[in-house]
Amino acid sequence: MPDSHALPAKQYVIAPPKQAAIAVEGSEAVFPVRRIWCVGRNYADHAREMGHDPDREPPFFFQKPSDAVMPNHSTIPYPPMTKDFQHEIELVVCIGKGGKNIPLEKALDHVYGYAVGLDMTRRDLQTQAKNMGRPWEPGKGFDQSAPVSAIVPAAKCGHPTKGAIWVKVNGAVKQKGDLNQHIWQIDETISFLSQYVSIEPGDIIMMGTPAGVGPVAAGEKVEGHIDGVGDLTVTYVAA
Ligand code: MN
Repeated sequence: MPDSHALPAKQYVIAPPKQAAIAVEGSEAVFPVRRIWCVGRNYADHAREMGHDPDREPPFFFQKPSDAVMPNHSTIPYPPMTKDFQHEIELVVCIGKGGKNIPLEKALDHVYGYAVGLDMTRRDLQTQAKNMGRPWEPGKGFDQSAPVSAIVPAAKCGHPTKGAIWVKVNGAVKQKGDLNQHIWQIDETISFLSQYVSIEPGDIIMMGTPAGVGPVAAGEKVEGHIDGVGDLTVTYVAA
C-alpha cells in the first residue's frame, strides 16, 4: 500500500499522538491498533430488531477511530450529546498480517487473535444520521466508544465459529446469542473487506452484535462474555 504516512523521520511540529493499543493475554507486549472496522447487521435477529431484512445482503462496514479503544475494567464517563447510549457486544478479530484481495481460504491466516468488544453507540445520533442520510460517525465513532478485552492469540484459542456471546447490564442479561449466528463469517468478512481496502497489521474488525441492544445509564456496569475468548467489564459514570 502507499506509505503516505511514512515520511522520512524528522521532528514533528507537535507531539505525535500516542499509539492506541490493546493488551494481550499472557504477554507484557501490547497489540497496536491501526484501524477499527465494524460490521453492520451481522446477526439476523439484530437486523430484524433494527427494522431490516437479514437476507444476506453484502456486509457493510463503518469505522471507529483507533483511539476509541478502552481497556478492560475501565471506568468511563457517560458520553456527551446523547440521551440513548447503548451496548453492542461483539467478537473482535485482530489482524496480524496484511493483505488485499485476500482469498477466502487464506483469510484466517491473517488473524493474530480475538477479543471481546463493545461497539458502544449513541443510538439517537445514529438514528438521526440514518433518517437524514448522514454519516454515522457521531453515533458510532466517538471518544472511548470501543472497550476491548485482552486479546487471546489464535495460536491459543483457535478461530471461534460457535459459542455463547452475551452482555449483562448491572447483572441482568440483555443480549444473548451465539457466534454461529454470524451472517458473514470471519473469513468471509476479512476477504470481503480486503477487496475495498488494504488490511494491515493492527486493524481490528468488530463482527456485529446479536439482538437485545439497549440503553446503558451512568452508574451501570456492563459485562460482556464470549465463550473461549474472554470477559470484558466496564463501568459508566456521570460525566
Ligand atoms: Mn455494532
